[in-house]
Amino acid sequence: MVVVGGGPVGCACAALLARAGIGAVVLEASTAVAPDPRALAIAWSSRQTLAELGCWDALPATPMHRVHVSEAGRPGSTTLDADAAGLPALGYTVRYSDLAAALRSKAGAALHTGVRVTGVQPPTSPEAPAKVSVETADGPQVIEARLVVVADGRGDWPGIRRHAREYPHEALLVDLRFERAPEGWAWERFTPEGPMAILPRVTPAGVQHTLVWSLPPERAQALLALDDTGLSRTIEAAVGPRLGRVRQIDARATRRTALAVAKPRTGPRLAVIGNAAQTLHPIAGQGFNLGLRDAVALAAQLADTVPGDIGSAAMLAAYERRRRSDQWGGVAYTDGLLRVANFKSGPVRLLRGLGLAALDLLPGARRALLARSVFGLHL
Ligand SMILES: Cc1cc2nc3c(=O)[nH]c(=O)nc-3n(C[C@H](O)[C@H](O)[C@H](O)COP(=O)(O)OP(=O)(O)OC[C@H]3O[C@@H](n4cnc5c(N)ncnc54)[C@H](O)[C@@H]3O)c2cc1C
Repeated sequence: MVVVGGGPVGCACAALLARAGIGAVVLEASTAVAPDPRALAIAWSSRQTLAELGCWDALPATPMHRVHVSEAGRPGSTTLDADAAGLPALGYTVRYSDLAAALRSKAGAALHTGVRVTGVQPPTSPEAPAKVSVETADGPQVIEARLVVVADGRGDWPGIRRHAREYPHEALLVDLRFERAPEGWAWERFTPEGPMAILPRVTPAGVQHTLVWSLPPERAQALLALDDTGLSRTIEAAVGPRLGRVRQIDARATRRTALAVAKPRTGPRLAVIGNAAQTLHPIAGQGFNLGLRDAVALAAQLADTVPGDIGSAAMLAAYERRRRSDQWGGVAYTDGLLRVANFKSGPVRLLRGLGLAALDLLPGARRALLARSVFGLHL
């Protein structure tokens, strides 16, 4: 079996397969994990999977005990609380590069770095293997596989149709420190310009935060170009007084955002997982969590399959059935959250604020929000 792409999802898949006694090779184009400032919100269920793989304890992770959700300039807010959910934490934040490195080490000898996949040829008959063309330091090679798992974050191979649409927003990412942000809290704020998430990160230098703000592209670029004081004042105005002044801006960047979905997600001797299967807007913090659940389900499906049936049409159909509702739920949730968050009319914003206030009064509704919460904290 060949896994194309040794990102977090591809390596997690290989590690899960190894635990089930199934051999796979992971082909990764890069030779080392590049520094990446992304802070990923990790759901409790993902933390459990990472712990089972033995890569949680050494991972620098910051717990989120409370998530405060509010509407800028309107009454109404709600706080999601780990104690109320009966959990040690609602979720955690980790650096993408720390997570990628931890999972690479768990993939072990299965991981081959510096190997770029240049083509995937479907099988010529139902019994034939698929063929994966690669470029290595020693030249091109072709590898035969009973199943090719595409986890390259893009899914741009024959037999995969990707439906993509760019959002009219960019994500502004800012690493910063607030004057009085309590430890263990995260914030989701609906602002008139777009939704914002603020994730905590405990570092040797104290508590820092990563802000992700979905904005119209020209506004994101204008904020990117501001000096530190100008950007700090703009963020303070949008966040409100709760966290105090911005003490320091450490880094900033923008990312274009799109929704891309592979349809179908399986083909002859082919399964597509992780970002290659669904690339989501980062604001809801769903992408890795959903991709990891793809890997868990695929490994479980393969563990239930007799070796001769690995990569068969029946096995792949069973995997696709197993994943359908969660995958489409994640896509619909993220896309829906963005639509609701981007309504700008006064009455809708008032209703959004009142809705948040009502959530604080209704334990049932609050639990429902918790179950697929603002940061993808799928419990
Ligand atoms: C700003 C931002 C914030 C985010 N926040 C969150 C969050 O809070 N929570 C969350 O769950 N998700 C979040 N995400 C999404 C998350 O980063 C992705 O869902 C996750 O990284 C997907 O992992 P992956 O392994 O599928 O793909 P990737 O991380 O893209 O890895 C793909 C790997 O494949 C390799 N590759 C590519 N092409 C080839 C080739 N031809 N041959 C060999 N190797 C190849 C690449 O080098 C890479 O290592 C965020 C994303 C962004 C951009």
